[in-house]
Amino acid sequence: MAASHHAALPPGVTLIDSHCHLDEERFATDRDAVIARAHAAGVTRMVTIGASGSMQANHDAVGLAQQHASIFATVGIHPHEASAVTPAVIDEITRLAGAPRVVAIGETGLDYYYDNSPRPSQQDAFRQFIALARQLRLPLVVHLRDAYDDALTILRDEGAADVGGVIHCFSGDRGAARAVLDLGFHLSFSGIVTFKNADELRAAARLTPADRLLVETDAPFLAPIPYRGKRNEPAYVVQTAAAIAAVRQQSLDELATLTHTNTERLFRLP
Ligand SMILES: [Zn+2]
Ligand SMILES: [Zn+2]
Repeated sequence: MAASHHAALPPGVTLIDSHCHLDEERFATDRDAVIARAHAAGVTRMVTIGASGSMQANHDAVGLAQQHASIFATVGIHPHEASAVTPAVIDEITRLAGAPRVVAIGETGLDYYYDNSPRPSQQDAFRQFIALARQLRLPLVVHLRDAYDDALTILRDEGAADVGGVIHCFSGDRGAARAVLDLGFHLSFSGIVTFKNADELRAAARLTPADRLLVETDAPFLAPIPYRGKRNEPAYVVQTAAAIAAVRQQSLDELATLTHTNTERLFRLP
């Protein structure tokens, strides 16, 4: 079912890339061209995630959102860097979250696949960012890998459903999908849904209710087929949307419209 050809949006149909990292070094030399290619492909808006590494990444993401009318930002600290979360870091994230065009807290969460920070640090940071999102009344962008049981406990304990959010680059099975959907969360699917061995993930995309489904690139990572292995960029989210439309037996037009509406509503985009 994976789309192996180049998909294109019908004229007048647009998509939002709900999760990308435009601040990344790999876009340093041609960022404006990347953004222009997204627009040309019908990807009219992008949410750039300010949490991939140092605090500087958050400043860069907020700066990009202020320079480009089509870009919005989130602020947070990735679970990989959770051991660097101090009260001073939380204060700075709190301040940055008040900047114009910052639409969510994240990405935050748990990554037990890489375990780049000790699990207790990841759990503690995740709890603090949920509390911050509730305090600021902003939705959460959640990164989860091989950690669904602990994540569900924390999301419930901390009342994350009060602000809601998205499990980005969802990579769990159908059971995990149902559990986070039951908490009121959205699921965002990346280029992984186009990979040949991703039948279980496509099954999760098929069962996701139409009002909870988002699409993303996670660029520069995880390029969809037929760009797999290359640097990913927001324009390629069209391939991911086409693959999901195929498994849901919907037109690309319908799928684009519903994910667009969901992303606007979740992040309260103007
Ligand atoms: Zn992530
Ligand atoms: Zn990310």
